[in-house]
Amino acid sequence: MRLKSIKLAGFKSFVDPTTVNFPSNMCAVVGPNGCGKSNVIDAVRWVMGESSAKNLRGESMTDVIFNGSVNRQPVGQASIELVFDNHDGGVGGEYASYAEISIRRSVSREGQSEYFLNGTKCRRRDITDIFLGTGLGPRSYAIIEQGMISRLIESKPEELRIFIEEAAGISKYKERRKETESR
Ligand code: ATP
Ligand code: MG
Repeated sequence: MRLKSIKLAGFKSFVDPTTVNFPSNMCAVVGPNGCGKSNVIDAVRWVMGESSAKNLRGESMTDVIFNGSVNRQPVGQASIELVFDNHDGGVGGEYASYAEISIRRSVSREGQSEYFLNGTKCRRRDITDIFLGTGLGPRSYAIIEQGMISRLIESKPEELRIFIEEAAGISKYKERRKETESR
């Protein structure tokens, strides 16, 4: 599974619809301070269901919506779409046969979030479910940010275990068990 492109609209500094393509296995996003590099990473985490505004460097969840600049009025909604190449069946289960997987999230100023999987409206859980055990997800180890290495080194054994279980692909089974037990 490989991230092919990110489509941003009304998200943070990306007010106009913008597509960022990742044409090969190794890509770098470069640019001057404040140009929006970290906003691209925030977008990835947001689509995958991040529900903490603080982890997105904002105070409230609607802070991800473009809030205006000297020349532009604020907009009413933000939307992000991630397109994954899934030729290798990295996203398994019922989606294993899909060559491409698209996930989209939008939010309005009223704070209403909507999620879409390959164009069909779905729940947040449907999105987080398909990435369980792949290393991807709002807080997974696929995204290593500033300060994360030291956080890992300093983390308590039970926190470290969560990372190891995700890497070993156990987390999705634990999640299912929790679900079954709660029924
Ligand atoms: P650095 O190299 O310093 O890490 P960067 O390229 O990572 O910079 P970002 O942090 O991604 O930069 O982008 C910061 C910019 O995004 C700031 O100019 C900020 O005003 C803008 N920004 C963040 N949220 C919003 C928003 N809701 N509406 C409009 N602009 C926003
Ligand atoms: Mg940055």
